[in-house]
Amino acid sequence: MDLAEYRSAARAWLAGNTPAADGVDAAKTFMARLHDAGYSGITWPAEWGGQGLTQAEERAFAAAARDFSLPTYVFSIGLGMCGPTLLDRGTPEQKGRFLRKLLRGEEIWCQLFSEPGAGSDVAGLQTRAEQVEGGWLVNGQKVWTSVAQHADRGLLLTRTNADAPKHKGLTMFVVDMRGPGVTVRPLRDMTGRAHFNEIFFDDVHIPDENRVGAVDEGWSVAVTTLLHERLSISSGVGMSGQRDNPTSFEALSSAVDTGDPLVRDQLVELYLRSRALALFNQRLSQETKAGIFPGARGSAAKLLLAELTTFSADLAVSLIGPEAVADGHPLADAIALAPAMSLGGGTNEIMRNIIGDRVLNLPPEPRVDKNVPFKDLKVNS
Ligand SMILES: Cc1cc2nc3c(=O)[nH]c(=O)nc-3n(C[C@H](O)[C@H](O)[C@H](O)COP(=O)(O)OP(=O)(O)OC[C@H]3O[C@@H](n4cnc5c(N)ncnc54)[C@H](O)[C@@H]3O)c2cc1C
Repeated sequence: MDLAEYRSAARAWLAGNTPAADGVDAAKTFMARLHDAGYSGITWPAEWGGQGLTQAEERAFAAAARDFSLPTYVFSIGLGMCGPTLLDRGTPEQKGRFLRKLLRGEEIWCQLFSEPGAGSDVAGLQTRAEQVEGGWLVNGQKVWTSVAQHADRGLLLTRTNADAPKHKGLTMFVVDMRGPGVTVRPLRDMTGRAHFNEIFFDDVHIPDENRVGAVDEGWSVAVTTLLHERLSISSGVGMSGQRDNPTSFEALSSAVDTGDPLVRDQLVELYLRSRALALFNQRLSQETKAGIFPGARGSAAKLLLAELTTFSADLAVSLIGPEAVADGHPLADAIALAPAMSLGGGTNEIMRNIIGDRVLNLPPEPRVDKNVPFKDLKVNS
C-alpha cells in the first residue's frame, strides 16, 4: 500500500470508529480498536506490540487524524513519555510486560517526577526508596501529576542514596498506582476541572523487577523521559491535531472576519509560526528515529510551542473580545490552559537556560550544589 492509500485507509477507518462520547471507558475501547486496526504504536517495534512501520506512515496517519477529535488525551503521558522511556531503557521483560497493554489502552500511565519542593530543580526531590526484602519501600509526595486519577502505572523517580550528590542518588521505578499505600488527590485548575493531582506514597512496596535502569542512575533515565516529554509536547503526541485546538490558525480563521488586513496580518503570523514549528518537530522526530539525539533542540521546540500557545490565546482574545474567556465559551478552556504550556515539561526560563548552556555555549548556571552530598544540602529552606 502506498502512502496516499495508507492515509485514505486511515481516514476512512477514523471516520467510522472515532467515538462521539468522551470519558475514560470510551477512550480505552477506542485505543483497543485503534491497535487492532494497526494504527497504535505505528513506529514501535512489532515485538513489543507496535506496528514496526516508518515515520512516513506515522506522518500519514497524523495527517489523516488532523480532522478528527480523538479521545487519546489520557494516554498522552504513556505514549509520549513512559513508553518511549521503557523502549530506550527498559529490560526486555519490562517491555514485554508493559508496552502492548499501553498501546492497547488497557493501562493508563502517569509520570511522577515533580514534588512540592522539586519542580525545575527536579533532581532535588525527596521521595525516598529504601531497599527491603524483595524490593523497595517508597515514602514521599509528588505533585502536578497529569492524569494520575485515571492511571494504572506510573514512572516514579525516587532518592535511593542521600550520601551521593543530588543527581547521583536517584533511581527510577514503575509503580502500581492501584496498589496499597498510594493516595491520589485531584487538584482543580483554572478551567474548574482536575487535569493533575497530588500523590502520597506511604510504605509502598515496589518489586525490584520494576526498577528501570541501575540503582542510583535514575537521573540518566529521567533525562531520557524529559527529552521524550519535550518532543511529545511540542509535536502533540496523543492529541489529534488542529481540530482539537480552538485557537489554531484554522479555527480562528473561520471564527473571525478576515476582511480586515490587520486581522489577516496577525493570522498569517500565527500560520507561519505554527508551520515553522511543525516542520522543526518533523525534523527532530525523523532525526530521533534515525538515532540522532536532538538534545537541547528538544527544549527549543518546547519553548517555541509555549510561546506560540500564549500568542494564539492572546490573539484569540484580541480578535474575539472578552467574551472568549466567559464561562461556557468554546475558547474559554483553551485560553485558561494556555499558561500551563509555559510550565509543564519545564518552564520557559529553564528551556532558555538549557538552550543558552548547550546550544549557544553561553556560561552555564552556577551549580554550587553539584558535588555536595544530598544529605548536606538545605532543601525546602
Ligand atoms: C499542566 C501541567 C502538567 C504537569 N504535569 C506533570 C506531570 O505529569 N508530572 C510531573 O512530574 N510534573 C508535572 N508538572 C510539573 C512541572 O514539571 C513543573 O510545574 C515545572 O517543572 C516547574 O516546577 P515548579 O512548578 O515547582 O516551579 P519552580 O521550579 O518553583 O519555578 C518557579 C519559577 O522560578 C523559575 N525558575 C526556577 N529555577 C530557575 C532557574 N534556575 N533559572 C531561572 N528561572 C528559574 C521558573 O521558571 C518559574 O517561573 C506539570 C505542570 C503543569 C503546569
